[in-house]
Parts: sequence; C-alpha cells; structure tokens
Amino acid sequence: MENTAERKKIVLSAIQPTGTPTLGNYLGALKNWKNMSKDYDCLYAVADLHSLTVRPEPQALRRQTLEMYAILLALGLDPEENIVFIQSHVPQHAQLAWILNCSTQFGEAARMTQFKDKSEKHPENVNVGLFTYPVLMAADILLYQADYVPIGADQKQHLEITRDIAERFNTVYGNTFKLPEPFIGKVGARVMSLQDPMQKMSKSDPNPKGFISMLDEDNVIVKKIKSAVTDSEAKVRYAEGKDGINNLMGIYSCCTGLSYEQIEKDFDGKGYGDFKQAVAEAVVCELRPFKEEFKRLMADKAYLLECAELGAEKAAHLAQRTLSKAMKKTGLFML
Ligand code: ATP
Ligand code: MG
Repeated sequence: MENTAERKKIVLSAIQPTGTPTLGNYLGALKNWKNMSKDYDCLYAVADLHSLTVRPEPQALRRQTLEMYAILLALGLDPEENIVFIQSHVPQHAQLAWILNCSTQFGEAARMTQFKDKSEKHPENVNVGLFTYPVLMAADILLYQADYVPIGADQKQHLEITRDIAERFNTVYGNTFKLPEPFIGKVGARVMSLQDPMQKMSKSDPNPKGFISMLDEDNVIVKKIKSAVTDSEAKVRYAEGKDGINNLMGIYSCCTGLSYEQIEKDFDGKGYGDFKQAVAEAVVCELRPFKEEFKRLMADKAYLLECAELGAEKAAHLAQRTLSKAMKKTGLFML
C-alpha cells in the first residue's frame, strides 16, 4: 500500500509551443520547474492544444512542439524520473475539458483578462477555443490531482478559475478533484518587455527587441539588453516609476541571487552602461549550458520521440484514473 504520509506532492507545469520561450518564461516558470523536479512528483506538458487558439501555421506548430519538448529536456528535467509529454498525445485532456465546460459559467469565463487581451490583439480570430482556454487548463491540472502549479503572475487568474471549477464540480457531484495551489516565485514572476516595461515580456511579441529568447546568441542578448528602455535618472535603484531599471534589476537578481539592496550598493556611483553590461553577462552565463544541451538534443530526434512516447504513456495512465472517476460521478454510462 502506498504510504500517503510519504507521498510526494504532485506538480503540473505546462507551456505552449507558440514560439521559443523567453527569459520571462524562464525566470517566471521554467527555472522553478527545474528546481521543483527533485522534491515533487512532476509532470511537464507541451500544451499544443492550447496553442491552436492562435491558429499557428501547421508546419511551424509541428516544429515548435518538438523544439519545446527538447527545451524541457535541455532544462535538465529527467524524462525517466518525471513525466514529460505532449498534451495532444493524452486525449483525456480534451475529454475532461468538455465535462468541465459544463461546470463553468459563461460569466466567469468572460471575466478572464487574458481572453480580453488576446481578443483585442487578434480581433480577426476571436474563436471559442480562446474563450474556453482556461477550462482546458483546468483539465490539464485537475486530471493529475496536482497540488502545485508553478506559474508566472499572468496565469494567477486562470489558476483561481481552475479552483472554482473544481470546487463547483466537487460540490455538485461529490469529491473528485484536488484543489491546486499556485506556486509563484518572488522575483521573476513578471518579467517585463525590454522595449515597453509596462507590458509583460511575451514570446508572441511582434517586436523581437522586446524579449530575449532562450536560444538567442550571446551577442544578440548583449545587444538587446543594451538597448533596453530605461529612464534619465542614471541611478541604479529600485523605485516606483523606474519600470525599465526595476525590470533589469529583477532579471539580474534572478540570475545572480543578489538582493536589490546588494545590487544598489554594488552599482552605487556607476551608470546604466555598466549595469546593463553586468546584466547581459549574467543572462548569457545563465543560459549558456541550456543552449548547448538543446543543440545536442535536437540532433537526436529518435531519442526525443522515444521520451515523448514514454511520457504520454505514463501521463495517460494517471489521467484515465481521474477521467473515469469524473465520468462515473456525472452519470455518463460506462462499459
Ligand atoms: P503567449 O504570448 O503565447 O501566451 P507566453 O510568453 O505568455 O506566450 P505561455 O506559454 O502562455 O507563454 O506561459 C508559460 C509560462 O510562462 C506560464 O507559467 C506563464 O505564467 C509564464 N510567463 C509568461 N510570460 C511571463 C513573464 N513575462 N514573466 C514571468 N513569467 C511569465
Ligand atoms: Mg501566455
């Protein structure tokens, strides 16, 4: 019998293959994913079904999905110890999402700020998938009875709706789903665009100067940080209204482990040029081992496919347990 007192907590993490992840994805989410992999039972998904909401070019989606899978392994996640899989390979996600759609109120889904933002940005394609995105995300999480979900601050609202949906289902049909907690790191939870530090850094930003991609060459990283928007005070300190510098301080702190106070002290009397140089070096150092591992993995497609198959098998086994439970509770006729 499994000893529940010793059971490790379950962590579910997912990322869309909508492009190469940015430094924001890395510091806000991926870096924590790696740190958590030792202490928890972790599942990591490439959320390809989610990315259909922005209708990527099919060939690009296929390529980016495999790349994102390699990125997860390149972070150092062990595909034997953890479950690393591609969402669409586990059909239970879409099945549970339908059941949960029927436990989600139209009004609560309509309040999601990501839906509002994305439909304003893409008025030509406000599809129903974009609207029910948080319900699919709820299915991703609830299928595995996850205790924690490590996310950036932008996904907090989606985690709250996941809890609301789970709670409603549990109340109507009896206890079925574990209510997940968000895991949001203190710094790095919200990395901002280098060109517009009032907006979050996003991999779908049409201006590549706004974000650092995790696969950017070293010289490109240096160039982008050097041209980051700052202010005219020329003093490295964390303060309201200094969004550009605050952002660079957050990035620097995440990469070096230094506190804001220490950074202010170290750069006392120095200009933004020196500071940007130090931030750029810290980022280059942080990403270098990852980039090398990524290149090595991409050269071994057979290995990646083998891992993806293993991951899907293990994930589907766990997912089916919860799906069957939910189907039974709702009264779906089962054979
Ligand atoms: P998209 O623009 O396609 O939505 P995205 O950059 O928001 O891309 P997602 O795949 O939606 O990426 O999110 C993956 C993870 O990265 C989530 O946990 C999200 O909270 C986190 N994240 C995204 N952007 C940032 C950011 N700027 N700072 C910190 N964390 C972030
Ligand atoms: Mg996003």
